[in-house]
Amino acid sequence: ASGAAPGSRNVPPTRYEDVGGMRETIEMVREAVELPITHPEIFKKMGIRPHKGILFYGPPGTGKTLLARAVAHESGAHFIAVSGPEILNKFWGQSEAKLRSIFGEARAKAPAIVLFDEIDSFASSRDAMSESFEATLVSQLLSLMDGLNDLGRVCVIATTNRPSALDSALRRPGRFDHEIEVGLPDAEARLHILKIHARGMPTDPDLDLEQIARATGGYSGADLEALCREAALVCMRRTINLRDFEKRIAPHQLSALSVTTYDF
Ligand code: ATP
Repeated sequence: ASGAAPGSRNVPPTRYEDVGGMRETIEMVREAVELPITHPEIFKKMGIRPHKGILFYGPPGTGKTLLARAVAHESGAHFIAVSGPEILNKFWGQSEAKLRSIFGEARAKAPAIVLFDEIDSFASSRDAMSESFEATLVSQLLSLMDGLNDLGRVCVIATTNRPSALDSALRRPGRFDHEIEVGLPDAEARLHILKIHARGMPTDPDLDLEQIARATGGYSGADLEALCREAALVCMRRTINLRDFEKRIAPHQLSALSVTTYDF
């Protein structure tokens, strides 16, 4: 995928193998997003309409964005990532034009995946917002999605930590009518995630990641990534001290060391 309208990015090389502990979720995502892109003929033949919009929901840092990037890369789709808070703030005054140009780009470069990260930042219940600017944006997003007739060639993914706060109109058929939960990882999933982030780190052969996976209940993937990064930084910051040498010197030679030190 390529192309770079303002705010869009090229697909980062994220693969399914970079997403840990989500075997079943990846299968669901492949079926809902990748299959219509790579094999549209199956859907045509069976007379099935692929989902236009898919909602990834779950706690922060569980890999929702990572998963969206992976499916875009693996299916070879043009990828446009849009940050919800950014569309509201950075493009203040131009948000509607921005939304139109995003959908225009997606159709022109189809197959394409548009990712609205943290969609709740502008698409919370319209009742609560009454006639606000956000409400106008939601209406526009809905009409742009209704206008998509590309049968799976353009897929819109949205992520949120608060699915219940979303405007209910977004979740009607033909919009974000398919929901995939991305929950906190269990011990087995945490081990997989730790292995991914410890990949390429010079770790001790006796480092037991299983033990760490067991001791990190409640950690998200992002927490586990931060843990690995911090552990690596501590190693880098630490200067090599005498203990490091002592540990590597045979006991009978250590006495020779002290002889040298006190030899006058
Ligand atoms: P938020 O809801 O806060 O936007 P998110 O669910 O979209 O969070 P990501 O942004 O995808 O989470 O995760 C942040 C980072 O944490 C990822 O770039 C990745 O490095 C790491 N991470 C999270 N989940 C996983 C996972 N399942 N496997 C590997 N790494 C993960």
